[in-house]
Amino acid sequence: MRIVIKIGTSTLTHATGHLNIRRVEKLCEVMSDLKNAGHQIILVSSGAIGMGVGKLSLKTRPTDIPTKQAAAAVGQCELMYIYDKLFSEHNHTVAQILITGADIQNEERNKNFQNTLYRLLELEALPIINENDTIATDEIVIGDNDTLAAIVARSSEADLLILLSDIDGLYTEDPHKNPNATLLSEVDEITSEIIAMTGSAVTKLGTGGMQTKLHAAEIATKNGIEMVIANGNDPEVLYDIVNGENIGTRFKAVKKQ
Ligand code: GLU
Repeated sequence: MRIVIKIGTSTLTHATGHLNIRRVEKLCEVMSDLKNAGHQIILVSSGAIGMGVGKLSLKTRPTDIPTKQAAAAVGQCELMYIYDKLFSEHNHTVAQILITGADIQNEERNKNFQNTLYRLLELEALPIINENDTIATDEIVIGDNDTLAAIVARSSEADLLILLSDIDGLYTEDPHKNPNATLLSEVDEITSEIIAMTGSAVTKLGTGGMQTKLHAAEIATKNGIEMVIANGNDPEVLYDIVNGENIGTRFKAVKKQ
């Protein structure tokens, strides 16, 4: 299977913005193992800004564009350094790809992106993709890595898209506000009722929330790709998700006519 895995900032870092070492080590081990089992893995990783915040000892996530972009420039290096180190321990070679919305919209650049991605997979490298936050401003920004991951899944004609987050999946209501909210294990169709279930919750260090995840689900499922939202707390869930087990919320792919 070709699998796109998106890891959110809240999964990679502690609330301080510093790396959650135990979790990231485990994630890299499980992804390496899935690759050893014959799956092709493409990683969409957030965390550049979050890690930059930690590394520059900023007190909070910046709101102004220049500081955000500076933090991303610092954090992206750190992020790739860690992935390179951890995947190398399992004999896997990583490759960094940074793109913006404008690259996707431009036919030629998008084609180049796709060609590189396919070639990297043929070479058995592990592409790690993030938005090029240092140059992306309002007009050209994709804005969140849930959407970016869905675009990557579409471009790479993936079989499965997995979004790892700090939430177990899609709930009938915001579980932080209503303890009676229940987790939906399967969504066959993204109806207006489903969309209404998403609050506007975002995490402190990341960008997305349930709305961007549903947007990603729309892009993926429309393109015949199944998508799962799951809690990245325990990276071992990746095995179960790939095995088709009932973890988090699984969005069924729309059958192509
Ligand atoms: N590109 C951002 C980063 O690396 C993350 C965007 C997101 O979390 O959705 O910090």
